[in-house]
Amino acid sequence: MQYCVKCVYPAVAATPLTFDQHGVCTGCRVAEMPRAIDWNGRWRLFEALVEEYRSASGYDILIPVSGGKDSYFQTHVAVKRLGLKPLLVTYHGNNYLPEGEDNLHRMREVFDCDHIIVRPGVDVLIKMNRIGFRLQGDMNWHAHCGIFTSPIQVAVRYKVPLILWGEHGFMDLGGMYSYNDFVEFTAKHRLEHALRGFDWHDFTALVMREYGWRAAEQPFERTYRTMSNLDDMHENGIHDYLKFVKFGYGRATDHACKDIRSGLMTRAEGIEKVRTYDHVKPRRDLTRWLDYVGMSEREFDAVCDTFRDPRIWRAEDGQWVKENVWRRPSAYGPVSQPLTSVAR
Ligand SMILES: [Zn+2]
Repeated sequence: MQYCVKCVYPAVAATPLTFDQHGVCTGCRVAEMPRAIDWNGRWRLFEALVEEYRSASGYDILIPVSGGKDSYFQTHVAVKRLGLKPLLVTYHGNNYLPEGEDNLHRMREVFDCDHIIVRPGVDVLIKMNRIGFRLQGDMNWHAHCGIFTSPIQVAVRYKVPLILWGEHGFMDLGGMYSYNDFVEFTAKHRLEHALRGFDWHDFTALVMREYGWRAAEQPFERTYRTMSNLDDMHENGIHDYLKFVKFGYGRATDHACKDIRSGLMTRAEGIEKVRTYDHVKPRRDLTRWLDYVGMSEREFDAVCDTFRDPRIWRAEDGQWVKENVWRRPSAYGPVSQPLTSVAR
């Protein structure tokens, strides 16, 4: 398995990436781009575009928000810098952490905005958790669907012609697109313009200082960051553990890649984070979810094993084993998982 020489991503990644002749991934190459961009020019483009859609009577813009740090920053720019009247829209998947729920409901107050929260019934959500887990190995499929469906439905209903989306994961993580491509979800590049050179830690500091935004108080079992993915308590837990089962890496790898690219840690420090967190089976989180959906751990493990990518995992001596970023590609590392069923 090839790993990027600059960050810690493997060649088989959830957000597709490729390597150049120096062994550097497309995600790292795209992450270098902002330094060379004329952000003042981009901001002027953004302002000009927004002016076209300013409404005399209704909402100027719709912002899909989870209540996370990006949601606060987007709404801050729209309300405080551009003087727009936004409509906030949230898909609520029923599993917010208390801090995330507080952050979400605080938005209506601190920004004085109308806020529509779409909440499916709990029984439906539990069924969707079970179906998503069994069919796709992802209990949060309903959330991805809701997040990218509800805001568009509401925009059509209220005749709001402009949507301000957040980050584009495939560009940001994998470098599938560049900052000059202006592709898909056109509000993607609007958000990038709106950032005006801020990195995530800058606007996290801003939303904490200005609006009382809160990070999670209890550390997560599978990553070192406490300020991301607070809109679902399992997002940094078993949902992410399933990514490790499927792809052989987890959120600690994602967070380490971002922090290496931002210059917040060295690659060696990133590798230590990966060693510490990526393989962890999150006990606290798993116990809660198994009880939530009424499933045994044995059944959970058996379903997990059906999602192990044979390019990543190999059964050896009753254990699942894989290659790791801290070893040469030809060698297996110490990370192993109990073999609960026979590999496909
Ligand atoms: Zn990289």
